[in-house]
Amino acid sequence: MYMEKLRLDGRIAVVTGGGGGIGLACAMALGEAGATVVVADLDPVLAEAGAQAVQDAGGVAHGIPIDVTLTDTVDEAVAAVLARHGRIDILVCNAGIVVSEVKAEDLDDAAWLRQIDVNLNGVFRCCRAFGRVMLEQGSGTIVNIGSMAGGIVVRPQEQAAYNASKAGVHHLTRSLAAEWGGRGVRVNAVAPTYIETPLTRFGMNNPRLYDRWLDSTPMRRVGQPDEIASVVHFLASDAASLMTGSIVYADGGYTAW
Ligand code: NDP
Repeated sequence: MYMEKLRLDGRIAVVTGGGGGIGLACAMALGEAGATVVVADLDPVLAEAGAQAVQDAGGVAHGIPIDVTLTDTVDEAVAAVLARHGRIDILVCNAGIVVSEVKAEDLDDAAWLRQIDVNLNGVFRCCRAFGRVMLEQGSGTIVNIGSMAGGIVVRPQEQAAYNASKAGVHHLTRSLAAEWGGRGVRVNAVAPTYIETPLTRFGMNNPRLYDRWLDSTPMRRVGQPDEIASVVHFLASDAASLMTGSIVYADGGYTAW
């Protein structure tokens, strides 16, 4: 019974930013659990490559283009998934960017607005569009990728816009969970520590940052994408059937100090 709850056979799952990093790991995890995975990414080639990786591992997947900053492309993605599959059961809002090591007083409008637009508005646009379908179905589950930086201010790098965008993702997650909890749609978020992906390369290759990151982490290491994907898989599955509005920290203990 308990392992069965983790199976996702017959479910249609969409992962934004699924062509690489944490998103690709999520696509792989959901595919291995039996879901049909739609890998949605800015770059259609990357989306197809992500889908191919899921297929190579024995799963079922295909790619679609999406730009989470453009409502039209989000709506088109929803229409494409519905046309092909007729339903949407799981949405992982993973697409995100960071501008780091810029002091707040030096952050220009463009950098601030871009991060809020991709990281926060993008999550809202996707939750709204895919969520409408789930509400109509009376079932569905959304997992947003937040960050421990949405709950605390990480250091030593300055990244006010990113931190604020992720705090927004966490509270948007709770707000949607409250609105949709009685209508069959669960909404949760994962708040990762530093994960080894292209997004954190700026710090992994910089001892001034990297050493501080490890010193601040009880487990004394960064994470790997699959360690976030496992949590996403759990939250997306029936094993988390009582969970909505939760922000689950997968942070090696970082926020315990
Ligand atoms: P990556 O940069 O490896 O992957 C991000 C993905 O999002 C890329 O495929 C990127 O496409 C895509 N993307 C960017 N902008 C858009 C857009 N406008 N529309 C659609 N897709 C877009 O980063 P990670 O895998 O590390 O990050 C994934 C998520 O996890 C992000 O939300 C990030 O903030 C969060 N996170 C990451 C942590 C980490 O330490 N790595 C820690 C905490 C949270 P392209 O490559 O074509 O630009």
